[in-house]
Amino acid sequence: MRSSASFPRVIVIANFVVVAVAVLGLMLQSSSGRPVPGPPAAVRIVQSAQPTPAEPVPTVAEPPGVVSTPEFAKQVKANELGLVPVLMYHRILKKRFASIDRTPDQLRRELEKLAKQGYWPITAKEFATGDIRVPAGRFPVVLTFDDGHASHFRLDASGNPAPDTAVGVLLDVARRYPEFRPVATLWINHDPFGLRKPEEQAAAVRWLIDHGFEVANHTWSHPNLAALRKKKVKEQIVRLERLLKKLGAGPAVTLALPFGAMPHPKKIARHGEWDGTTYDFAGVFLAGAEPSLSPYAKKFDPVAIQRIQSNGNKGECRKWCSQYWLGWLNKHPGDRYVSDGDPTKISIPQRLQGNIAPKRRGQLVVY
Ligand SMILES: [Zn+2]
Repeated sequence: MRSSASFPRVIVIANFVVVAVAVLGLMLQSSSGRPVPGPPAAVRIVQSAQPTPAEPVPTVAEPPGVVSTPEFAKQVKANELGLVPVLMYHRILKKRFASIDRTPDQLRRELEKLAKQGYWPITAKEFATGDIRVPAGRFPVVLTFDDGHASHFRLDASGNPAPDTAVGVLLDVARRYPEFRPVATLWINHDPFGLRKPEEQAAAVRWLIDHGFEVANHTWSHPNLAALRKKKVKEQIVRLERLLKKLGAGPAVTLALPFGAMPHPKKIARHGEWDGTTYDFAGVFLAGAEPSLSPYAKKFDPVAIQRIQSNGNKGECRKWCSQYWLGWLNKHPGDRYVSDGDPTKISIPQRLQGNIAPKRRGQLVVY
Protein backbone atom coordinates (compact mmCIF):
# COMPACT_ATOMS: atom_id res chain seq x y z
CA MET A 1 0.00 0.00 0.00
CA ARG A 2 2.71 2.42 0.99
CA SER A 3 4.68 1.92 -2.16
CA SER A 4 1.67 2.59 -4.39
CA ALA A 5 0.85 5.71 -2.33
CA SER A 6 4.36 7.08 -2.72
CA PHE A 7 4.40 6.53 -6.48
CA PRO A 8 2.52 9.73 -7.38
CA ARG A 9 4.79 11.69 -5.09
CA VAL A 10 7.84 10.45 -6.99
CA ILE A 11 6.24 11.65 -10.22
CA VAL A 12 5.45 15.03 -8.67
CA ILE A 13 9.06 15.42 -7.60
CA ALA A 14 10.32 14.21 -10.97
CA ASN A 15 8.01 16.69 -12.68
CA PHE A 16 9.25 19.50 -10.49
CA VAL A 17 12.85 18.71 -11.31
CA VAL A 18 12.32 18.52 -15.08
CA VAL A 19 10.19 21.68 -15.06
CA ALA A 20 12.88 23.50 -13.10
CA VAL A 21 15.57 22.29 -15.49
CA ALA A 22 13.46 23.13 -18.53
CA VAL A 23 12.58 26.61 -17.22
CA LEU A 24 16.24 27.27 -16.55
CA GLY A 25 17.02 26.09 -20.08
CA LEU A 26 14.40 28.43 -21.51
CA MET A 27 15.78 31.35 -19.52
CA LEU A 28 19.28 30.68 -20.78
CA GLN A 29 17.99 30.40 -24.33
CA SER A 30 16.02 33.67 -24.18
CA SER A 31 18.84 35.59 -22.53
CA SER A 32 21.06 34.71 -25.49
CA GLY A 33 18.69 36.77 -27.63
CA ARG A 34 17.71 33.90 -29.89
CA PRO A 35 14.07 33.25 -30.69
CA VAL A 36 12.55 30.60 -28.47
CA PRO A 37 10.40 28.61 -30.87
CA GLY A 38 7.23 26.74 -30.12
CA PRO A 39 5.56 25.49 -26.99
CA PRO A 40 7.79 25.53 -23.90
CA ALA A 41 10.02 22.48 -23.76
CA ALA A 42 8.71 21.88 -20.23
CA VAL A 43 5.36 20.70 -21.56
CA ARG A 44 6.87 17.82 -23.48
CA ILE A 45 9.37 16.86 -20.84
CA VAL A 46 6.67 16.64 -18.15
CA GLN A 47 4.76 14.22 -20.37
CA SER A 48 7.76 11.92 -20.51
CA ALA A 49 7.86 11.79 -16.69
CA GLN A 50 4.56 9.85 -16.66
CA PRO A 51 4.66 6.08 -16.10
CA THR A 52 6.78 4.61 -18.86
CA PRO A 53 4.82 2.79 -21.55
CA ALA A 54 6.10 -0.54 -22.83
CA GLU A 55 7.68 1.08 -25.90
CA PRO A 56 8.51 4.69 -25.16
CA VAL A 57 6.97 7.08 -27.67
CA PRO A 58 9.81 8.89 -29.38
CA THR A 59 9.73 12.67 -29.12
CA VAL A 60 11.86 15.00 -31.16
CA ALA A 61 13.06 18.25 -29.63
CA GLU A 62 12.16 21.55 -31.27
CA PRO A 63 14.80 22.55 -33.79
CA PRO A 64 17.49 24.73 -32.21
CA GLY A 65 16.74 28.43 -32.55
CA VAL A 66 18.60 30.19 -35.34
CA VAL A 67 18.35 33.71 -36.73
CA SER A 68 18.32 33.68 -40.50
CA THR A 69 20.63 36.07 -42.34
CA PRO A 70 21.28 36.22 -46.09
CA GLU A 71 24.70 34.58 -45.54
CA PHE A 72 23.28 31.76 -43.42
CA ALA A 73 20.28 31.21 -45.72
CA LYS A 74 22.63 30.95 -48.71
CA GLN A 75 24.86 28.51 -46.87
CA VAL A 76 21.95 26.12 -46.13
CA LYS A 77 20.37 26.77 -49.59
CA ALA A 78 17.12 27.89 -47.91
CA ASN A 79 14.12 28.17 -50.20
CA GLU A 80 10.92 28.70 -48.27
CA LEU A 81 8.95 29.35 -51.45
CA GLY A 82 9.74 25.85 -52.70
CA LEU A 83 7.41 22.87 -53.15
CA VAL A 84 6.26 20.68 -50.25
CA PRO A 85 5.04 17.09 -50.64
CA VAL A 86 1.76 16.50 -48.76
CA LEU A 87 1.47 12.71 -48.89
CA MET A 88 -1.96 11.06 -48.90
CA TYR A 89 -2.50 7.59 -47.47
CA HIS A 90 -5.68 5.54 -47.25
CA ARG A 91 -5.93 2.02 -45.80
CA ILE A 92 -2.74 0.33 -44.56
CA LEU A 93 -3.39 -3.39 -45.12
CA LYS A 94 -1.21 -6.49 -45.22
CA LYS A 95 -3.21 -7.57 -48.27
CA ARG A 96 -4.12 -4.70 -50.59
CA PHE A 97 -7.60 -4.67 -52.14
CA ALA A 98 -7.54 -1.35 -53.97
CA SER A 99 -4.66 0.34 -55.74
CA ILE A 100 -4.67 3.16 -53.18
CA ASP A 101 -4.16 0.70 -50.28
CA ARG A 102 -0.61 0.43 -48.99
CA THR A 103 0.91 -2.37 -46.94
CA PRO A 104 2.59 -1.65 -43.59
CA ASP A 105 5.92 -2.53 -45.30
CA GLN A 106 5.32 -0.09 -48.13
CA LEU A 107 4.47 2.63 -45.62
CA ARG A 108 7.57 1.82 -43.57
CA ARG A 109 9.85 1.90 -46.62
CA GLU A 110 8.46 5.24 -47.75
CA LEU A 111 8.84 6.78 -44.27
CA GLU A 112 12.40 5.45 -44.00
CA LYS A 113 13.21 6.94 -47.39
CA LEU A 114 11.85 10.32 -46.24
CA ALA A 115 13.86 10.09 -43.00
CA LYS A 116 17.10 9.25 -44.85
CA GLN A 117 16.58 12.05 -47.37
CA GLY A 118 16.22 14.74 -44.72
CA TYR A 119 12.46 15.27 -44.62
CA TRP A 120 10.92 16.50 -41.37
CA PRO A 121 7.19 15.80 -40.83
CA ILE A 122 4.85 18.64 -39.89
CA THR A 123 1.04 18.50 -39.60
CA ALA A 124 -1.41 19.82 -42.18
CA LYS A 125 -2.42 22.46 -39.63
CA GLU A 126 1.18 23.63 -39.18
CA PHE A 127 1.61 23.71 -42.94
CA ALA A 128 -1.63 25.57 -43.74
CA THR A 129 -1.06 28.17 -41.03
CA GLY A 130 2.58 28.69 -42.09
CA ASP A 131 3.86 27.55 -38.69
CA ILE A 132 6.77 25.62 -40.17
CA ARG A 133 9.43 24.76 -37.59
CA VAL A 134 11.95 22.66 -39.45
CA PRO A 135 15.74 22.58 -38.85
CA ALA A 136 17.91 24.55 -41.27
CA GLY A 137 18.64 22.75 -44.52
CA ARG A 138 15.86 20.17 -44.03
CA PHE A 139 12.59 19.74 -45.98
CA PRO A 140 9.05 19.71 -44.56
CA VAL A 141 6.75 16.83 -45.50
CA VAL A 142 3.09 16.45 -44.46
CA LEU A 143 1.85 12.88 -43.81
CA THR A 144 -1.94 12.60 -44.09
CA PHE A 145 -4.25 9.62 -43.52
CA ASP A 146 -7.83 9.78 -44.83
CA ASP A 147 -11.09 8.21 -43.66
CA GLY A 148 -10.18 7.33 -40.04
CA HIS A 149 -9.65 3.70 -41.02
CA ALA A 150 -9.10 1.08 -38.29
CA SER A 151 -5.67 0.38 -39.80
CA HIS A 152 -4.52 3.93 -38.95
CA PHE A 153 -4.71 3.83 -35.19
CA ARG A 154 -5.60 1.53 -32.31
CA LEU A 155 -4.62 1.45 -28.65
CA ASP A 156 -3.67 -2.02 -27.43
CA ALA A 157 -4.66 -3.49 -24.05
CA SER A 158 -1.85 -1.61 -22.30
CA GLY A 159 -2.93 1.72 -23.79
CA ASN A 160 -0.12 1.98 -26.36
CA PRO A 161 -0.49 2.38 -30.14
CA ALA A 162 -0.67 -1.01 -31.83
CA PRO A 163 2.52 -1.62 -33.85
CA ASP A 164 0.71 -2.82 -36.99
CA THR A 165 -1.19 0.47 -37.44
CA ALA A 166 -0.03 3.46 -39.49
CA VAL A 167 0.78 5.39 -36.31
CA GLY A 168 2.59 2.33 -34.89
CA VAL A 169 4.75 2.11 -38.03
CA LEU A 170 5.49 5.86 -37.94
CA LEU A 171 6.54 5.68 -34.27
CA ASP A 172 8.79 2.71 -35.01
CA VAL A 173 10.50 4.53 -37.88
CA ALA A 174 11.03 7.50 -35.56
CA ARG A 175 12.70 5.20 -33.01
CA ARG A 176 15.15 4.07 -35.67
CA TYR A 177 15.66 7.55 -37.13
CA PRO A 178 15.68 9.78 -34.06
CA GLU A 179 15.57 12.96 -36.18
CA PHE A 180 12.32 11.96 -37.89
CA ARG A 181 9.52 13.76 -36.05
CA PRO A 182 6.57 11.36 -35.61
CA VAL A 183 3.54 13.51 -36.40
CA ALA A 184 0.77 13.20 -38.98
CA THR A 185 -2.72 14.43 -39.76
CA LEU A 186 -5.63 11.98 -39.55
CA TRP A 187 -8.80 13.14 -41.30
CA ILE A 188 -11.79 11.30 -39.88
CA ASN A 189 -15.49 10.68 -40.55
CA HIS A 190 -18.26 9.78 -38.09
CA ASP A 191 -16.71 6.46 -36.99
CA PRO A 192 -13.08 7.31 -36.20
CA PHE A 193 -10.76 4.30 -36.54
CA GLY A 194 -13.72 1.94 -36.75
CA LEU A 195 -14.53 2.59 -33.09
CA ARG A 196 -18.19 2.67 -32.07
CA LYS A 197 -18.05 3.45 -28.36
CA PRO A 198 -17.73 7.17 -27.57
CA GLU A 199 -15.25 6.49 -24.75
CA GLU A 200 -12.99 4.47 -27.09
CA GLN A 201 -13.18 7.18 -29.74
CA ALA A 202 -12.30 9.81 -27.13
CA ALA A 203 -9.36 7.78 -25.76
CA ALA A 204 -7.92 7.27 -29.27
CA VAL A 205 -8.25 10.92 -30.25
CA ARG A 206 -6.89 12.05 -26.86
CA TRP A 207 -3.75 9.92 -27.31
CA LEU A 208 -3.15 11.34 -30.79
CA ILE A 209 -3.64 14.98 -29.78
CA ASP A 210 -1.44 14.56 -26.69
CA HIS A 211 1.37 13.25 -28.89
CA GLY A 212 1.37 16.08 -31.44
CA PHE A 213 -0.86 14.46 -34.09
CA GLU A 214 -3.67 16.40 -35.75
CA VAL A 215 -7.17 14.88 -35.96
CA ALA A 216 -9.37 16.91 -38.29
CA ASN A 217 -12.43 17.10 -40.55
CA HIS A 218 -13.17 14.80 -43.51
CA THR A 219 -16.98 15.37 -43.30
CA TRP A 220 -19.57 13.27 -41.45
CA SER A 221 -20.31 10.53 -44.00
CA HIS A 222 -17.82 11.10 -46.85
CA PRO A 223 -20.21 12.27 -49.60
CA ASN A 224 -19.21 13.85 -52.89
CA LEU A 225 -19.57 17.52 -51.88
CA ALA A 226 -19.64 18.64 -55.53
CA ALA A 227 -23.01 16.89 -55.89
CA LEU A 228 -24.64 18.30 -52.73
CA ARG A 229 -26.71 21.42 -52.12
CA LYS A 230 -25.04 24.19 -50.13
CA LYS A 231 -26.94 23.49 -46.95
CA LYS A 232 -26.10 19.78 -47.05
CA VAL A 233 -22.40 20.55 -47.55
CA LYS A 234 -22.40 22.72 -44.45
CA GLU A 235 -24.32 20.10 -42.47
CA GLN A 236 -21.77 17.44 -43.42
CA ILE A 237 -18.90 19.62 -42.19
CA VAL A 238 -20.63 20.88 -39.03
CA ARG A 239 -21.74 17.44 -37.87
CA LEU A 240 -18.13 16.28 -37.94
CA GLU A 241 -17.00 19.51 -36.26
CA ARG A 242 -19.37 18.72 -33.40
CA LEU A 243 -17.95 15.20 -33.07
CA LEU A 244 -14.38 16.53 -33.10
CA LYS A 245 -15.28 19.00 -30.38
CA LYS A 246 -16.81 16.24 -28.27
CA LEU A 247 -13.63 14.15 -28.70
CA GLY A 248 -11.37 17.04 -27.70
CA ALA A 249 -10.03 17.76 -31.21
CA GLY A 250 -12.17 20.70 -32.27
CA PRO A 251 -12.57 23.12 -33.77
CA ALA A 252 -10.64 21.65 -36.70
CA VAL A 253 -8.15 23.85 -38.53
CA THR A 254 -8.07 21.72 -41.70
CA LEU A 255 -10.51 19.85 -43.94
CA ALA A 256 -9.80 17.17 -46.54
CA LEU A 257 -12.41 17.03 -49.29
CA PRO A 258 -13.84 13.50 -49.80
CA PHE A 259 -12.66 12.32 -53.27
CA GLY A 260 -11.01 15.74 -53.56
CA ALA A 261 -14.38 17.03 -54.85
CA MET A 262 -14.95 20.77 -54.40
CA PRO A 263 -18.42 22.05 -53.39
CA HIS A 264 -20.06 25.04 -55.05
CA PRO A 265 -19.38 27.77 -54.29
CA LYS A 266 -15.85 26.89 -53.32
CA LYS A 267 -15.77 29.24 -50.33
CA ILE A 268 -18.23 27.09 -48.33
CA ALA A 269 -15.52 24.46 -48.06
CA ARG A 270 -13.56 26.92 -45.94
CA HIS A 271 -16.04 28.98 -43.91
CA GLY A 272 -19.67 28.39 -43.10
CA GLU A 273 -22.43 27.87 -40.61
CA TRP A 274 -25.18 25.26 -40.12
CA ASP A 275 -27.70 25.03 -37.31
CA GLY A 276 -25.91 27.64 -35.22
CA THR A 277 -22.43 26.08 -35.49
CA THR A 278 -19.69 27.73 -37.56
CA TYR A 279 -16.48 26.41 -39.10
CA ASP A 280 -13.44 28.26 -40.35
CA PHE A 281 -10.49 26.31 -41.79
CA ALA A 282 -6.96 27.56 -42.44
CA GLY A 283 -6.56 24.93 -45.15
CA VAL A 284 -8.75 22.74 -47.39
CA PHE A 285 -6.95 19.81 -49.05
CA LEU A 286 -7.54 18.13 -52.41
CA ALA A 287 -6.80 14.49 -53.26
CA GLY A 288 -4.06 14.87 -55.89
CA ALA A 289 -1.77 15.06 -57.76
CA GLU A 290 1.36 17.17 -57.29
CA PRO A 291 3.49 18.79 -54.55
CA SER A 292 1.93 21.84 -52.89
CA LEU A 293 3.12 25.38 -53.29
CA SER A 294 4.60 26.92 -50.15
CA PRO A 295 1.96 28.52 -47.92
CA TYR A 296 4.00 31.76 -48.23
CA ALA A 297 3.66 31.84 -52.03
CA LYS A 298 1.46 34.45 -53.70
CA LYS A 299 -0.26 31.73 -55.72
CA PHE A 300 -0.90 29.40 -52.75
CA ASP A 301 -4.65 28.68 -52.58
CA PRO A 302 -5.64 27.65 -49.04
CA VAL A 303 -8.95 26.24 -50.34
CA ALA A 304 -7.31 23.87 -52.84
CA ILE A 305 -4.09 22.48 -51.38
CA GLN A 306 -2.53 19.79 -53.54
CA ARG A 307 -1.60 16.37 -52.22
CA ILE A 308 0.24 13.35 -53.61
CA GLN A 309 -1.12 9.81 -53.43
CA SER A 310 1.35 7.40 -51.86
CA ASN A 311 2.00 4.77 -54.50
CA GLY A 312 4.53 3.17 -56.83
CA ASN A 313 5.40 4.12 -60.36
CA LYS A 314 3.01 1.91 -62.33
CA GLY A 315 0.01 2.58 -64.55
CA GLU A 316 -1.87 5.75 -63.68
CA CYS A 317 0.71 6.51 -61.04
CA ARG A 318 3.56 6.92 -63.52
CA LYS A 319 3.27 10.69 -63.34
CA TRP A 320 1.57 11.69 -60.13
CA CYS A 321 2.08 9.40 -57.18
CA SER A 322 4.67 9.55 -54.41
CA GLN A 323 7.45 7.46 -55.94
CA TYR A 324 7.41 9.68 -59.02
CA TRP A 325 7.20 12.99 -57.16
CA LEU A 326 9.74 12.20 -54.43
CA GLY A 327 12.15 11.20 -57.19
CA TRP A 328 11.34 14.38 -59.11
CA LEU A 329 12.00 16.56 -56.04
CA ASN A 330 15.38 14.86 -55.56
CA LYS A 331 16.26 15.67 -59.17
CA HIS A 332 15.08 19.29 -58.81
CA PRO A 333 16.49 20.37 -55.44
CA GLY A 334 16.14 24.03 -56.43
CA ASP A 335 12.36 23.67 -56.62
CA ARG A 336 11.95 22.04 -53.21
CA TYR A 337 11.15 23.84 -49.95
CA VAL A 338 14.33 24.03 -47.86
CA SER A 339 14.04 25.47 -44.35
CA ASP A 340 16.19 28.29 -42.97
CA GLY A 341 15.63 26.97 -39.43
CA ASP A 342 14.10 30.31 -38.35
CA PRO A 343 10.29 30.09 -38.06
CA THR A 344 9.96 33.88 -37.95
CA LYS A 345 11.70 34.51 -41.30
CA ILE A 346 11.07 33.44 -44.88
CA SER A 347 14.40 32.94 -46.60
CA ILE A 348 14.60 32.68 -50.39
CA PRO A 349 16.97 33.11 -53.30
CA GLN A 350 16.66 36.46 -55.08
CA ARG A 351 15.15 34.94 -58.24
CA LEU A 352 11.95 34.06 -56.30
CA GLN A 353 11.36 37.48 -54.74
CA GLY A 354 8.32 38.18 -56.93
CA ASN A 355 6.50 35.05 -55.70
CA ILE A 356 6.00 36.02 -52.05
CA ALA A 357 2.48 36.65 -50.70
CA PRO A 358 2.21 40.40 -49.99
CA LYS A 359 1.31 39.91 -46.31
CA ARG A 360 4.52 37.91 -45.79
CA ARG A 361 6.89 40.50 -47.30
CA GLY A 362 7.96 41.80 -43.88
CA GLN A 363 9.43 38.37 -43.01
CA LEU A 364 11.68 38.06 -46.08
CA VAL A 365 15.38 37.27 -45.99
CA VAL A 366 16.73 37.37 -49.56
CA TYR A 367 20.12 36.15 -50.77
ZN1 LIG B 1 -11.70 10.00 -48.01
